[in-house]
Amino acid sequence: MKVSDCMRYAAGIDLGGTFVKLALISEDGSILFNDKLEIGVRASREDILETIGLAISMVSKEADLKDIQISGIGIGTPGIIFEGVVLGGADNLNGWSDVPLGAMFSEKFGLPVYVDNDANVMGIGEVVYGAARNCTDVIFITVGTGIGGAIVMNGQLYGGYKNRGGELGHITIDHKGIDCNCGGRGCLEAYASTSALIGQYAELSGKDAETIDGRYIVERFREGELSAVKAMQDHTDYLGHGIASFVNVFAPQKVVIGGGISEAGQFYIDMIKEATFRYALPDCATNTEVVAAILGNKAGCLGAASLVFRNGN
Ligand SMILES: [Zn+2]
Repeated sequence: MKVSDCMRYAAGIDLGGTFVKLALISEDGSILFNDKLEIGVRASREDILETIGLAISMVSKEADLKDIQISGIGIGTPGIIFEGVVLGGADNLNGWSDVPLGAMFSEKFGLPVYVDNDANVMGIGEVVYGAARNCTDVIFITVGTGIGGAIVMNGQLYGGYKNRGGELGHITIDHKGIDCNCGGRGCLEAYASTSALIGQYAELSGKDAETIDGRYIVERFREGELSAVKAMQDHTDYLGHGIASFVNVFAPQKVVIGGGISEAGQFYIDMIKEATFRYALPDCATNTEVVAAILGNKAGCLGAASLVFRNGN
């Protein structure tokens, strides 16, 4: 019996603002092949669709070379996704609304296609293959230019009615606070994203925000620079406030922190953990651990592929 007879395989596609990442993934989470294709900032809807099609073709070709049968295609994409259709909400991609991704590629490749929001896909990736393996109740937060997240309840992604919820970055932490990109006010994202951290550090230090990134602040923090210490304390305190609310509502087994800055080191996770447990109800937080994501930039493709294994036959 060939290996391909007992193990299932899937194409995992991760659409971001600048790249389409692609991978051939086995059910046990091994990445047999991966690559990425650039999409220009002015890419049209047609350009993006063509690039995704090419990405799937590349995985399919690689599978043929390895004499492997693909069971299906999983796609993570920015936006609100319901029944394989990107309804909207992906402002960084041109024309990315009312796109029937699932139906289009299912017809083109003759395979089942499963689509979900990029943060959801990363979150389920961490649950199936990463930091929250063997957990059924998980909150995933990705800290970057914005704050995204995923809710996993009873082993399933939970996105609210018609998958329109789960916007963990847009809970209010200060109702009289600063404006948020979403049109609301005082959202967690406006206070605790990496962009907000950079803004706050720039203000405290008098440095030009254009020349600063998260890594720079982490380095200054490690050196004990006062502005960096203050900015990082505030940043993790804001995150702790937000996460404490999620803990009080969901009582997750794990809160998984992802995004580039989550790789800063254990100190970063420890600061968030300390703030979270300071603000959360102890009875709700009894079984909760706060941990760093471990799949890094592979979470999207792995999570997308896991949609195939979880939903397919
Ligand atoms: Zn908001």
